[in-house]
Amino acid sequence: MHVAVIGSGVVGVCTAYFLAEAGHQVVVVERHGNVAEEASYGNAGVIAPGYVTPWAAPGMPGKILSCVFKSEAPLLFKPTLDPALWRWMRRWLSECELERYRINKARMQRVAFYSSDIQRQMREHYQLDYEQNRGYLQLFRSARDIQMAQPAIGLLMENEVPHRMVDADEARSIEPALDRKTALAGGLYLPQDESGNCPLFTKQLKSIAQSIGVEFQFNCNVRSIRSETRGVTLQHDNGASHVDAVVLAAGVDSAQLLAALGIDVPLYPIKGYSATASIKNFEDAPLAALMDESYKVAITRLGSRIRIAGTAELGSRALTLRDAALRTLMKVGNDWFPDAANYNIASFWCGARPMLPDGAPLLGATPIKDIYLNIGHGSSGWAMAAGSGKILADLVSGYDAEIDMDGLTLARYDQAS
Ligand SMILES: Cc1cc2nc3c(=O)[nH]c(=O)nc-3n(C[C@H](O)[C@H](O)[C@H](O)COP(=O)(O)OP(=O)(O)OC[C@H]3O[C@@H](n4cnc5c(N)ncnc54)[C@H](O)[C@@H]3O)c2cc1C
Repeated sequence: MHVAVIGSGVVGVCTAYFLAEAGHQVVVVERHGNVAEEASYGNAGVIAPGYVTPWAAPGMPGKILSCVFKSEAPLLFKPTLDPALWRWMRRWLSECELERYRINKARMQRVAFYSSDIQRQMREHYQLDYEQNRGYLQLFRSARDIQMAQPAIGLLMENEVPHRMVDADEARSIEPALDRKTALAGGLYLPQDESGNCPLFTKQLKSIAQSIGVEFQFNCNVRSIRSETRGVTLQHDNGASHVDAVVLAAGVDSAQLLAALGIDVPLYPIKGYSATASIKNFEDAPLAALMDESYKVAITRLGSRIRIAGTAELGSRALTLRDAALRTLMKVGNDWFPDAANYNIASFWCGARPMLPDGAPLLGATPIKDIYLNIGHGSSGWAMAAGSGKILADLVSGYDAEIDMDGLTLARYDQAS
């Protein structure tokens, strides 16, 4: 089949690769001049299938309220009149109770564990080096933060995910450069979780995909998708293309293209920020990936650089940098690894997480023939991309996915289940 993939973030490129590997003729249509230029560009790089977590979690509404007036906060809320924001918030609130959280988290973990397996196979097969590291340490500044993490820790036990609670001394033996002046109540260590450079991986996979025949049409914005009696027509900057099937992997802007087809998905951009700085003192730098649970900010070692990423801003669609968010990132960097880098001269970035209110992505067919989705990976798209790409290739090829798809398709909104 001739298949077009719209979007060349990490999700679109993984999809294109697996489609070509399955024998399809694939074209990727991307409005930027290269792959991984939007959400996939500056993310934290964490691949933690054991800990992928929906944003809608018990205690989160209270956490948002408590942050509203703080100058350094993990969450920024900018109330606007955008009805899509309020619709999203209403749905999100209804997903915060414990039972919904358990269901949503299990759906996300199903994709993330599968994905980590697929990504490992790709890494071994192509001998990829994308600055990956192993081990993920969650830091809790207070006993209250440990308390807040209990539902997630309970699920790790239930799902037999290798992990251990560590005290401050053990946390410092795992990450010896952690600054002793910052209060640390304890940590949670996930030895099998990983981190790595998402845009580097995406560029490597682009080259591999090209070598097996994938065509990339860059600087080409798709304006509309139309289903025909046979196949699908795309209207874009270079005119029109007719293909047998389309996979939409256009991140946050997928909602707009779908709305024009009469498909309403509650996808909303949740803005996040990162700071990337060259390491100046290697002895004082992190060895792998950490997460400051109190501020929901990740610190990741990417080769000879350190990346600090996080914060969630609701209500702003503009990708402009905001001082309050950057202050939070620099505070977290200075609190834990003050001598590793000069954070004032870091490169700062912001991007929009393509977030659904209940957390799991939407994968597979739509009610419209030959139009498929690979969208809504939220804050875990890097961790889910390889598996989601393989799932889409299987479904487009007419096979079953290798994992149970219950709760991962558009049907979950029809049935409100
Ligand atoms: C601060 C931050 C930290 C994060 N940390 C992590 C993390 O540690 N681990 C993790 O797993 N995830 C993380 N994420 C989430 C992750 O980055 C995203 O889930 C993932 O990048 C989404 O990939 P994507 O390919 O769906 O979207 P994108 O990377 O946004 O790609 C979509 C592409 O579609 C293109 N496009 C859109 N519309 C059109 C159109 N009409 N025509 C042509 N092209 C179009 C865009 O130009 C873009 O290139 C983080 C995100 C942020 C913002």
